[in-house]
Order: sequence, then C-alpha cells, then structure tokens
Amino acid sequence: PKEAYFVDPDSIDVMVTFTKAEDNHKLISKFRTTVSSMLKFATVHINLYILGDDASIEIAHDILDEVADKHHYTMNPLNIDELVKKVHDTISELQSFFSYKPGAYYSDSLFFLSIVAHKVLPDLSRVIMLDCDLKFNSDIRELFHFFEVFFETNIIGIAHDAQPVYRHNWHMYRNQNKGTRVGDPPPDGLAGFNSGVMLLNLDKMRESDVYNSLINADVIKQLTEKYMFKGHLGDQDFYSLIALEHEDLFYVLPCSWNRQLCTWWRDHGYSDVFDLYFKCEEHINIYHGNCDSPIPKL
Ligand code: UDP
Ligand code: MN
Repeated sequence: PKEAYFVDPDSIDVMVTFTKAEDNHKLISKFRTTVSSMLKFATVHINLYILGDDASIEIAHDILDEVADKHHYTMNPLNIDELVKKVHDTISELQSFFSYKPGAYYSDSLFFLSIVAHKVLPDLSRVIMLDCDLKFNSDIRELFHFFEVFFETNIIGIAHDAQPVYRHNWHMYRNQNKGTRVGDPPPDGLAGFNSGVMLLNLDKMRESDVYNSLINADVIKQLTEKYMFKGHLGDQDFYSLIALEHEDLFYVLPCSWNRQLCTWWRDHGYSDVFDLYFKCEEHINIYHGNCDSPIPKL
C-alpha cells in the first residue's frame, strides 16, 4: 500500500566521518557537538555508523557514552582503512581531478568515499551522511523525510554550497558562455553543492546506470575539460560537476539543513554577489561550521 511508504521508519541509518581524531582536540570537540545535538533532538532510533580509524572510534565511543542515552542510538564502527582499501582503485583515478596535490594520496581517499558508498555499504539502502562539524537545531527524522519526496531520478539529496566557490572555479566557462546557469546562484543557477550533509539513496545509486557510468576517469576527464574545472574539495566537486549535465540525479535540500557559516569568499573578490549564495532566510535546522567557522550558541 502506498501509505506504508510514508510511515516513519523505526530507525534510521546515519553515517559520520570521524577519523584521525587522536590528539586533535578541535575535531573531538566538533564531533561532540555534532552527535550530542543530533541525539538531543532526535525522536527516532539512530543506527549510527562511525567511519574512522580504531583510535578515533574509541574516542567516539566514549563521547557517545557520555552525551547520550543508549536507547536513542546503536553505534556501528566502520573501519575506514578497510573500506578505502576496497574502493581505492576506483576512487584514486577520480581523485586527481579534484585535488591540487599531484598524486592520489591514500589518506585523501576518505574525502571521496561517499561517491562509492553504494559499493561498500551493501547492507544499507538509505543513509544520511554527515560531516562532524555540525550542530543540529531540529529532529534528524525530518531530514530523513526528504528521501520520501525525491523525484524518480533523484539518487542523492544535497544542499547548494553557500559561497560562490563554483562560480569562481567555472569563471572561464562562464566568460565563454554568457547567460549560462553554470555557477549562477540559487534558486535558478547551478551553484554547486556542499557535501557536509547528504542523503544517499544507496539502492538507487546501485541501480542507476547513468550514475555508475560517471564513476569513470575518462568521463570525468571530458567533463573537467569541457567546464575547464580543477577542483580541490573532494566528493562535492564530483557531484557539482556531474550535476552540470545530470541535474536530475540530485534532490536539492533546503539551505536550512546545511547552513554553512564559512564566509571566506566574501573577502576574496566576491563581496558583490556573495549574499546571493549565502543568504538563508529559513529556520535553521543544521548549522555547519565549515572552514573552521564558529557555530553560534543557540
Ligand atoms: N574529517 C575527519 N578527520 C580529519 C579531517 C576531516 O574525520 O582529519 C572529516 C570530518 O567528518 C569533517 C569532514 O571530514 O567534518 C570534512 O572536513 P571539514 O568539515 O573540515 O571540511 P569543511 O566542511 O570545512 O569543508
Ligand atoms: Mn564540514
């Protein structure tokens, strides 16, 4: 029955990347804020997957014990090295297009893992994937509901990047293609994405011939040449680029579910258009302290 599809799930799958945390007190503190605020507002059981090395997973365990009641979550450690090993061949050939560094560093593969999450998380069908520099101000169950309003072709839910970073990266293409939507601000532009909060429909990612055909160095090479693009922001560069030709793979999340706070580009040549990208006049559901930005006390 159709209604059954909209019934709340008993539990939801959420994955947080938390690695290289040992002795990184700033990262540990950010993680604490992310998970404690998430669990505080949550009204659904959370299967929490922590993607990290063994030492970081230990730290995550302690923090979770400290901040939350066991009824609210189940913690599932995922060893990042094992996961990366499985998909390194696939990822490493894409990495060079979205990194300033010459080689495809093994340690950087973690920033590309979401692209192939459907290949390494076989038991899951839909997962929310999160950075650990967030602060929730709403119930994550409401975020999970966006899976239900995906259009047929949508496989990933993701919010726009809140700065003109892709306008900058695509400036050559924009100069040669006046009137293009490439790099224009929301709501009508192809502004590029921020990968700090993502809804991955892993079943649809597995099924999508279009999506899987894009996980290919030759295809990506062609796209980077066409749009004269050299990225350095990992997975979000990949999604932002493929969306230029396959917009319908993505469900654009409201800015309030990934309210990025970084304002670096405002002071680096883009003050005139900055607010077109940055403004978010909604009740904020998730703050994202990207580029190390402080999150306001709520
Ligand atoms: N991350 C991590 N360990 C690190 C660096 C990054 O676990 O040493 C993860 C963490 O989940 C972090 C995400 O990678 O939130 C992306 O990095 P960051 O949030 O610093 O990037 P930004 O949002 O500022 O672009
Ligand atoms: Mn972040």
